Amino acid sequence: MSEKHTQKLVIALTKGRILDEVLPLLEKAGVIPAEDITRSRKLIFDSNLPNVQLMVIRGSDVPTYVELGSADIGIAGKDMILEYGSRGFYEPLDLKIARCRMMTAAPVGSILNMPRLKVASKFVNIARDYFSGLGQQVDIIKLNGALELAPIMGLADCIVDIVDTGKTLSANGLEPRALITEISTRVIVNRASMKIKHTMVQDLLQRLQKAVESSQPNGS
Ligand code: AMP
Repeated sequence: MSEKHTQKLVIALTKGRILDEVLPLLEKAGVIPAEDITRSRKLIFDSNLPNVQLMVIRGSDVPTYVELGSADIGIAGKDMILEYGSRGFYEPLDLKIARCRMMTAAPVGSILNMPRLKVASKFVNIARDYFSGLGQQVDIIKLNGALELAPIMGLADCIVDIVDTGKTLSANGLEPRALITEISTRVIVNRASMKIKHTMVQDLLQRLQKAVESSQPNGS
């Protein structure tokens, strides 16, 4: 199929803290929302480019939109991509923003030598994969927030969560234990869009890549 100028490129952005860091990168790459995304209740926006639209959704929904092709490109944390679990899209670019770590954490000084650990997490697939790789038996308890409460209240022995400064953990009597993986924001691309809209997708990826490079202190 030939690539027409009338084709639209839909980019799914993650709302919240990632959005604040992504918008300046997009602007450097030449994509500017037609109105202030951060102040609007709308979910889909035109941009300065006639063929580019921006959606703003929850990070956990970005892989779904991209895999199923309702968005051509997605911008989401590696945590959301790993938790989603599918390899049904390409992941060509690390934007190197919203960096943090996926870690296990437990009450300060606690000994986790039980044969079966109770693990609370929002990231149940990441937690299951990690402990299964260690050969550790676990009961995974799915929570949607305030994970730090689970060990304090006796619901779990440890948690699997995102750690940035570690302040949230220490404020709740927990300490980081094992690093599961480093997290940063990634660009994902629908498999069909990569072929059918090749020029548009590659052009945007190249401009984003340059924006990332120019934003790194030593070009790393
Ligand atoms: P901190 O107290 O700095 O370790 O921040 C920990 C909390 O902030 C975590 O429980 C997350 O909910 C959230 N957080 C920090 N950085 C990120 C990030 N890059 N992406 C998503 N959530 C984050």
